Amino acid sequence: MRTPLVMGNWKLNGTKGSVRALIKDFETTAQAAKNVQVAVFPPTIFIDQVAVLVEKTCIEWGAQDISTNVSGAYTGETSPMMVKEFGAKYSLVGHSERRQYHNETDQIVAAKFVTIQKHGLVPVLCIGETLEQREKNETTQVVESQLKAVVELAGIKALGNCVIAYEPVWAIGTGKVATSEQAQEVHAHIRLWLSKQDKSVADKVQILYGGSVKASSAKELFEQEDIDGGLVGGAALIAEEFIGIINGAK
Ligand code: PEP
Repeated sequence: MRTPLVMGNWKLNGTKGSVRALIKDFETTAQAAKNVQVAVFPPTIFIDQVAVLVEKTCIEWGAQDISTNVSGAYTGETSPMMVKEFGAKYSLVGHSERRQYHNETDQIVAAKFVTIQKHGLVPVLCIGETLEQREKNETTQVVESQLKAVVELAGIKALGNCVIAYEPVWAIGTGKVATSEQAQEVHAHIRLWLSKQDKSVADKVQILYGGSVKASSAKELFEQEDIDGGLVGGAALIAEEFIGIINGAK
């Protein structure tokens, strides 16, 4: 039995005031949803503030990205060691926006995945196909090759200590949510692919769906057998929506 997990990726959004207000608004719901894990990914500048705000709650948090370097002459980067010191549990890796705007290849993603685990953090590995790839029926091939790059470097057992987020690129920030059948089909395929290599990893790993999840679509998505929760972007910035999504995972 896998614990449902709801994660909010705030991307490049927020102010000190909005961060405070947002956490205050969904904190009670997160605390009351005893069987649901809740985590947020603030912009790096708000990490210290978030760490303090969630300290006495069950809300966990992570970095949106980390460097493969721990320290040194790497201007603008965030060290895994630093976010760990502030109390991070997770780090996203392989988000399609990093792949697209920062040219992060499968190999860079795999290297970051290994660095994240090495520093005691849990990677949230984002994978998913573009619209063009889906239209060419390449979805399963794409997610398999994205997973394979990580398995080749980290080993299959390493995937037992991560979260996988299936995020079809065509559904991210577009308002076009995958249907629960479309999402379940890919999630089941991911789990089957993993189980062929290690059944215990496949049974254990939480596989989240990401892509325009809203309070109105969360419950039906999360009811699918292989969907263990959601990685939420836009709707995670609106307390009422995020509350609805947490409740949809209960
Ligand atoms: C995301 O950024 O991971 C995401 C799923 O965004 P949105 O919910 O806005 O589509």
